[in-house]
Amino acid sequence: MVVKAALIESIFSVLQHQALGPEVVDSVAMAVGEPTGAKRYVKGHNLGEGTYGVVFKAVDTVTNRTVAIKKIRLGKLKEGVNVTALREIKLLKELQDPNIIELMDVYPHKSNLHLVFEYMESDLEAVIRDRNIFLSSADCKAYMQMILKGLAVCHKKWVLHRDLKPNNLLLGSNGQLKLADFGLARIFGSPDRRFTHQVFARWYRAPELLFGSKQYGPGVDVWAAACIFAELILRRPFLQGSSDIDQLGKIFGVFGTPGEAQWPDVTSLPDYVEYQYSPPQSFRSLFPQASEDCIDLLQRMFTYDPKQRITAQLALEHRYFRTEPAPTPCYMLRRPVKPEVHPKPIELLSPAGHIVFSPPTKTRRLQLFGGDIKTAGEASRDTHAKLQPELGTPIDAITIPMSIDPKTNLRPTLNSSDRSYLKRKLDMDIFLTPARR
Ligand code: AMP
Repeated sequence: MVVKAALIESIFSVLQHQALGPEVVDSVAMAVGEPTGAKRYVKGHNLGEGTYGVVFKAVDTVTNRTVAIKKIRLGKLKEGVNVTALREIKLLKELQDPNIIELMDVYPHKSNLHLVFEYMESDLEAVIRDRNIFLSSADCKAYMQMILKGLAVCHKKWVLHRDLKPNNLLLGSNGQLKLADFGLARIFGSPDRRFTHQVFARWYRAPELLFGSKQYGPGVDVWAAACIFAELILRRPFLQGSSDIDQLGKIFGVFGTPGEAQWPDVTSLPDYVEYQYSPPQSFRSLFPQASEDCIDLLQRMFTYDPKQRITAQLALEHRYFRTEPAPTPCYMLRRPVKPEVHPKPIELLSPAGHIVFSPPTKTRRLQLFGGDIKTAGEASRDTHAKLQPELGTPIDAITIPMSIDPKTNLRPTLNSSDRSYLKRKLDMDIFLTPARR
């Protein structure tokens, strides 16, 4: 136990110097009388749970600022230290930008590492789902510009985010959007580097990943950004596959089955299988209200061949961002209703077991227990059937939490087998030398 605590302290000290720079560490140390580490923060309620740990709200007693603290379990010594935390800290240190979440402090406490972030009020998923918010084309443009700016900085610094999705795009009180959750992020650029293809939530996964590509680049993030672009316009997830095979089917059903001319290397990808031919649908019919510029940019971002797909930087330079309407200034963007005013999360029962619907804002991830995936609509009908006799309430009078859109499927994250595979993979990566890989 003592050895473990000492090890955590020494890892922390290296990380802290790496993450914040020795000058910050020194100045904090010199600030006599100021609390440091866990003593500095007053812990509040849970904001959500990511793949690697719980995030809770807190107040920094030195600055009086509200912060979000991610508590990361460092893992058992014999299994190796949780590499994700180290990676997230190291990468965020490189990525300081107004459109990327700010890592403000790092400290160890008990067997956990705590990452202190600026507190963000909401996220893009809450905006998309909030039916009281009208999203104009200028608003969509503003969100896309902020996403692409953050992404362009990541790619310029050779970082792949690998988990872009609306609820990882956090929104500050001034409407500023910031890329967050760098737990799956990796450095790219060396030509022989092979990565896992089990990244991104399925609906945002690029076709090369779905075909098992292990040597991919920033195009995977651009594809995910394109899915988010379409989701902003349509106000629902664009390509909602129920399995990886179905995801490819959904993609091909919309953009047409790719041929060698469109995507020359496709047949040599590891998991390539031939799909029945589907013709492409016209972008105009898919996005009837979108401008020509908007459609042109979407098409370039949804290009099959990753080598020809537009980069985040070139997307930012696209005429879509220069023509009318101008992007809405971020402080004028409408914000979703604050979490505090929502009803408490409710637990729903399905014949397959519990379905826990997360509260409407921060913990929006919908978790399923029992493996039977249902649409939110089916789940709510089950609940009505169960609740009605118990409560004696007419069906119409039972309210569904606002975060649940009965018409959409449950939003998948990495599924549990993906996750445990990925965790093992990530934890092992640090120990494997290139020769052994
Ligand atoms: P993550 O592990 O980064 O996916 O975070 C899990 C959940 O915690 C997210 O889905 C957010 O709801 C919440 N969260 C993460 N970071 C912040 C932050 N800086 N401010 C407010 N909430 C956050």
